[in-house]
Amino acid sequence: MNAARPQHAIHAIGVVGAGAMGNGIAQVCALAGLDVILHDISQTQLDRGLAAIHHSLARMINKNTINADDRPAALAHIHTTTELDALAEVDAVIEAASESEALKLELFAQLDAICKPAALLGSNTSSISLTRIAAATKRPDQVIGLHFMNPAPIMALVEIIRALQTSDATYAAMRALLKRIGKTPIEARDSPGFVANRILLPMLNEAVYALHEGLACAEDIDEIMKLGMAHPIGPLALA
Ligand code: NAD
Repeated sequence: MNAARPQHAIHAIGVVGAGAMGNGIAQVCALAGLDVILHDISQTQLDRGLAAIHHSLARMINKNTINADDRPAALAHIHTTTELDALAEVDAVIEAASESEALKLELFAQLDAICKPAALLGSNTSSISLTRIAAATKRPDQVIGLHFMNPAPIMALVEIIRALQTSDATYAAMRALLKRIGKTPIEARDSPGFVANRILLPMLNEAVYALHEGLACAEDIDEIMKLGMAHPIGPLALA
């Protein structure tokens, strides 16, 4: 390792889980010039994830969000694997596997054993305690929550959540990484649903209750929130 390099310089990133969030996060990182190893236990999901990235990049070219040359450049940065061991040399991991606490605790223990000592470990969990996830590793100070919004290539916000154990150095490095990939990190405390889902989910529930009580039809409930609150999509369509 180059001794002059800062401890947390991030060049290569592992993304665990190639589903809706993982493939979007891999795309965003690759577009920013990071080398990405995209891992999933399912080859079918990796193939689907890669197809979704191709499709999303084509749409971005059509909308002039990126240049035609950016597509092959981004794709060249993405490598897929079903072997978690392939993440041994990455500088940071963003885990976006299925939302199960048992699964994530096991995965973080595995990542801790596989990844090099300086590697930082982020989780895209929507609701699981980062403090418990961090405690599954022997490097709890290097674990942090990075809650991307869906779809990750489009949405600017990433909630950044410290576990109780997260060090200032980890926080600063991951915050810098999020800015480098074009996102706006905003810190939220480690509490169920953090801030975005804490507020969003009761609103979705209220929309369902409003429909149930016959206050308006589904289309009108969505139109009221779109036109009245400038929401891009109605709560029932979102739910
Ligand atoms: P998804 O079901 O689309 O994808 C999950 C992927 O994880 C699947 O491809 C699955 O094969 C893979 N997987 C399961 N176990 C694995 C393992 N042990 N190792 C590697 N891969 C494994 O789910 P998603 O919607 O992409 O959500 C992923 C994470 O992101 C969850 O923690 C979720 O709470 C969070 N999240 C989701 C959204 C959203 O709107 N979908 C938004 C923000 C955060």
